Amino acid sequence: MSIEEKERELSVYESMAARYDVAARKLGLDEGLSNYLRTPNREIIVHIPVDMDDGTLRVFDGFRVQHSIARGPCKGGLRYAPNVTLDEIRGLAAEMTWKCAVANIPFGGAKGGIICDPAKLSMGELERITRRYTAEILDYIGPDRDVPAPDMNTNEQTMAWIMDTFSMHMRHTVTGSVTGKPLALGGSLGRREATGRGCMITADEALKRFRWQRETTRVIVQGCGNVGSQAARLMYEAGYKIIGVSDISGGTYNTSGINVPHLLEYLGKNKSVKGFGGGESIGSQEILEQECEILLPAATESVITGKNAHKVKAKLLVEGANSPTTPSADDILFDRGVFVIPDILANAGGVTVSYFEWVQDRQGYFWPEAMVNDRLKDIMVSAFDGVVGYGQKHNVNNRIAAYMLAIDRVASCIKVRGIYA
Ligand code: NAD
Repeated sequence: MSIEEKERELSVYESMAARYDVAARKLGLDEGLSNYLRTPNREIIVHIPVDMDDGTLRVFDGFRVQHSIARGPCKGGLRYAPNVTLDEIRGLAAEMTWKCAVANIPFGGAKGGIICDPAKLSMGELERITRRYTAEILDYIGPDRDVPAPDMNTNEQTMAWIMDTFSMHMRHTVTGSVTGKPLALGGSLGRREATGRGCMITADEALKRFRWQRETTRVIVQGCGNVGSQAARLMYEAGYKIIGVSDISGGTYNTSGINVPHLLEYLGKNKSVKGFGGGESIGSQEILEQECEILLPAATESVITGKNAHKVKAKLLVEGANSPTTPSADDILFDRGVFVIPDILANAGGVTVSYFEWVQDRQGYFWPEAMVNDRLKDIMVSAFDGVVGYGQKHNVNNRIAAYMLAIDRVASCIKVRGIYA
């Protein structure tokens, strides 16, 4: 089977399972436990009736997959997109379990999705979809059960609607029922920057190992949404040389360095990076293949595949996005000596500050931003050292090391808890 055929057939869940199987085998995990751990605890499918603005009634399909509660309540984002599938949500839910275990925060993994096109829906329609979805899964969510957060095409407003709907049913305000909320409703300082900041912290740690200087480290960022724009801004402010940034419409490239604050101002006004005067125009895929030290994909899944991995010239890949690299690309990158900071490590800053938000909500006591950032750094540095050290000790690449470390942590909780019958 060719690489193309292999990759066409690998869904998000199958990609996760392929890596999981390698890691579980290397760990020598008992077959029964291994099967249990790769299977979600619960998959909820709901059909959501919504009164549309034009007077018609439409039914939307929604999912919530809860992969594991072995280490604590489930935690994971909710995405809205026309092409969301249950399989994709299943794979991403499992990855949340591994991510929380790599960061060593006391959560299991979950993910949710609603098949809809937010660009074609009014605010009122989005609110009604969100509230009815929340009501349909109400028995399965909450601060001790499963805590949703924003993901693709959902935001602070979506979380506020979920929190309010949940609270109305509980008859009191439950701020810890979601994270990624507006600050006024119990959100955390530093949450918006957290994923990008976490990417930078892991890049900093790799730089120390390579003895590179930030000023001479050229960075290309694909995607300029929450993760990409914050990573580019923070890395620019820290002294890194950002030479390429793209979004879905195209990119800008300048070997002398891009003025990121100017670029973000341009993006704010024009809703696109395309056409920015401070660099040459470049395609969003083409940008992945340019000379640089760090490539930071922060857009979407499967952008580095068996077809283009051999063209990646970066020496360090920091996976801001979830699943940007396919399993066949992993092998090519590894053979070529690219140091990969895998998604479940590199982008764990978001769920880590979500954890801080949940802790602050439950305490009713809010931390200054510097404390959030310091604690985030502690967790990211120790996760980085844990993964890279594990890889060196067991002679596996960083991705398999991250999976092995995570699976081992979850499996040991299950072993000591036992299987309830
Ligand atoms: P976002 O919707 O805010 O931004 C996505 C960006 O990627 C936009 O600039 C968009 O134009 C661009 N994009 C989309 N498709 C593209 C393509 N094919 N080529 C180039 N650019 C493309 O999303 P986000 O919250 O920044 O998330 C980005 C990725 O990071 C996703 O994979 C998400 O699951 C992951 N992630 C996000 C967080 C978080 O805290 N937001 C945490 C962990 C992981």
